[in-house]
Amino acid sequence: MSTRRIGLFGGTFDPPHLGHLVVADQVRWTMGFDEVWLVVANDPWQKTVVRHITPAAQRFAMVEAALVESEGLVASAVELEEAGPSYSIDTLATLRERHPDTEWSLIVGHDAARGLPTWHRADELATVANFVVVNRPGADASLPAGWQFSTVDVPGLDISSTDLRRRLADGRSVRYLMPRGVIDLAASWGLYRPDS
Ligand code: ATP
Ligand code: MG
Repeated sequence: MSTRRIGLFGGTFDPPHLGHLVVADQVRWTMGFDEVWLVVANDPWQKTVVRHITPAAQRFAMVEAALVESEGLVASAVELEEAGPSYSIDTLATLRERHPDTEWSLIVGHDAARGLPTWHRADELATVANFVVVNRPGADASLPAGWQFSTVDVPGLDISSTDLRRRLADGRSVRYLMPRGVIDLAASWGLYRPDS
């Protein structure tokens, strides 16, 4: 049996946007991954303390909507199966057990890569995971020592969920920054309005 190679691209995806999709697709092609899975964090514990997070089921549905025409990109609900905080080290262990024939890499943008030492059981994660890091406009490109990184250059898109939430709250346009289906879904649920 040949080994499948899959990239795990974790995020809050509140909401998903074109920056996420370009990263996922470019990394898939450059690394030759069979698939890239967009892994929706159930409880992004480092963010929950700072701001209101859209319920995980709605963020997952938006990721599914974002991927309708995507080849090789998959929405993964693996972290939604467990209540409570989402830790990459546990997700990786779960997937390795479920799919012993698959080789996993974790995809992160430069801003996330710089935060890796603050992740749950970071010392252990550094020894068991291979990372693919991508450039992100505005993010410092230095990387923490002691982690295994490959780097992939992607066309820089200065798009963030934070900026999109602000635009939606202000009633400004988000067209061409988010997939059409995601815009429609968020609007139908009244997400990111100033009163929500
Ligand atoms: P927020 O502003 O709410 O933090 P975000 O746009 O950073 O949202 P996340 O869900 O936090 O999106 O990011 C998930 C992953 O995607 C992280 O590894 C992050 O670095 C990466 N990422 C997000 N947007 C981009 C982008 N425009 N270019 C490169 N990487 C990105
Ligand atoms: Mg972020």
